[in-house]
This record gives sequence, C-alpha cells and structure tokens, in this order.
Amino acid sequence: MAGKKLTVVISQQQGKNPVQRHLEEEIAVQLLGDPDIDVSLVPHLYDLSRDHTGTMFLQSVPGNLLVLSWLFSRAARWILDRNGIKGQEGISLLNPEEEDTDAPPATNGIGSWDVPKRKLYCIDLRDHQQAKTYLEEIRRIARENTVQTFDLMGLIQSSPQRAKLQKYVEPEKLLKAAEAPANPETDEQVKRRWYPVIDYSRCTNCMECIDFCLFGVYGLDGADRILVEQQDNCKKGCPACSRVCPENAIMFPGHKTAAIAGAEGEVAGLKIDLSRLFGAPNALEMAAMERDTELVADGREAVGMSVGIPKRQASKPTQRDNLDDLMDGLDQLDM
Ligand code: SF4
Ligand code: SF4
Repeated sequence: MAGKKLTVVISQQQGKNPVQRHLEEEIAVQLLGDPDIDVSLVPHLYDLSRDHTGTMFLQSVPGNLLVLSWLFSRAARWILDRNGIKGQEGISLLNPEEEDTDAPPATNGIGSWDVPKRKLYCIDLRDHQQAKTYLEEIRRIARENTVQTFDLMGLIQSSPQRAKLQKYVEPEKLLKAAEAPANPETDEQVKRRWYPVIDYSRCTNCMECIDFCLFGVYGLDGADRILVEQQDNCKKGCPACSRVCPENAIMFPGHKTAAIAGAEGEVAGLKIDLSRLFGAPNALEMAAMERDTELVADGREAVGMSVGIPKRQASKPTQRDNLDDLMDGLDQLDM
C-alpha cells in the first residue's frame, strides 16, 4: 500500500490552442513533485474510445480521482461513468453551481450503479485562467483526501497492461511528447467524436430517446436500462434527441449551446420554447426537422413528427427564464 494519494488526470484540449496547452502544462508541472498527488495527462475525454489506453488508465485508478477537462463538470462525470470510471461525486469549490445552495435538487433519475466508495471530482478548465486557482483547489482536495490508495504501478504490474499504461505514470515523458511532432507509428490516434451522453441522475428510463432515434444509437443493458450503445452511429452536429428527452438528461458536450453541452442548472427545452416567441419551431418540431435532415442525408425517407415523438411533452407549458436564456435562444436561431 502507498500513502494517501489523490490521482489528478488532465484531459487535454481537442485543438492546439497555446493558451490552453500552457494551462494544462503549468498545472501538470506544478503537481509533479507533490508527494500527495499522482498526476497524468490523457487526450480529450469525449474522444477516448473504450479501448484507448487513456480510458484503460482511468479505469485502473483505484482511489480518489480528480479529472480536469475542457468540459462542463456534469458532462465529464457522465462520460467517465459510461466508460466504467465511477465514484461518489466529490465537491469542488471551483464549480460555481455547487456553491449555490438554491440550485434545484437532482430529479428522481435512476442514478448510476455499482458506484465505488471513492470520490470522483470533475473540474472544468474553462472556468478560470490562472493555474494557481486550480492548484490551490487540487491541493485542498488532496489534503482532505483520506482514502488509502494502492500503488498504481503495483496494481497494473501484470503485463501486458503495465507496458501500455506506463506512459501515464510518467507524465514528464508525456509533456515532452506533446511538444514533438506526431508519430503515426507509435502514437495512438484520437479522432473527434460526436455522441449523446446520458445524465443518469436525471434519466428516468422512460425510453423516449430510443423510440425517437432512428439510427440505432441507443440500446438497453442487461437490467433493461437505457444506454448509448453505438456511440459512433450518431450524426455529427445533430443534437435532436436532447430536445426530446423530458428530463433534459441527454447532453452533447460539443454543442455550442451551454444547456445542451451539459451546463448545470439549465434546461435545454427553455431555449427552444423562447424561439416560439419569434414564430420558430418548438423543441419537438426542431428535433424532428434535425432528424429528417439526417435521414435524408442517409438516403432515407423523412418521417417528420409521425415517428417517436413523445406525446406527453406536447402539452408542456412554455417557460420563460432570464436574459441569459433569451440570448441563448437568439443564438440558437442564429439571429
Ligand atoms: S429520454 Fe431521457 S429520461 Fe427518457 S430514457 Fe432517454 S435519456 Fe432517459
Ligand atoms: S442526435 Fe440523432 S442520431 Fe444522434 S442519438 Fe440523437 S436522435 Fe440518434
């Protein structure tokens, strides 16, 4: 057994923004010599496939885990959950919504399952510009971390995993490799992906998404729970089913609208209901149009509102929100 250690994993940006790269590196370098922390870097979480060594590494972390990513923390948490990387939700003081005690409570979603006792913290790297802010919070969390962890290399000692995962335990090498040109023979390729992510704290397993999606993305697990089974069947750029989910449980972390990308406390449907003020389609009509666009692009027949449209949402009252929602609604309409 090793001492009490917090594993910090930095999920890197998708592009080559030098400011973002600098922030990632500064945090990693500052944490390297910290005796209470193991630090590593992986490619962008959303793009990792289940068999990528970055995913395998995350799965192999046995103790408390803190993940920094360029994603809303809610989206990061449920991306990790879908890949079997679970934990009790750790509270970070950097997540503004978690300081807000007036925030609406979680709904009666089915929740995650087989969640271990360790803590899982997800922090959005877009919230602050200074590495110092993140470092202070990471060290605060590391100090309150009381879980006895196993030595990581000891745990993954057995080959062939050890050789594959070694690089994540030596982040100095990763940092150097990031500066060098890509080597297609040795570097694991990560391509940009687009697929829905389910927030099971909200999902009630109503199955409306599986009825709506005509592209075979959704499926059921052994306990008849909804899951995103064929992620890469989803149509790039289309967020149609997020508008159909009555619990606003479906996120598309790469979408430009914060509510759809996983912003905490916002409701995707509100933006679209606002669009009604301008005579534009409501959420369900828009979802059907987006789905038709993809069906036609695939050489199939458009089905409009005739298939998989949840009836019970049609009578949902239109809600109004604050100026931010109005601006997002306008943004949605490209006005
Ligand atoms: S529509 Fe939403 S609440 Fe219903 S099963 Fe799908 S994700 Fe869950
Ligand atoms: S966005 Fe479209 S293709 Fe992708 S899961 Fe939703 S309904 Fe299916």
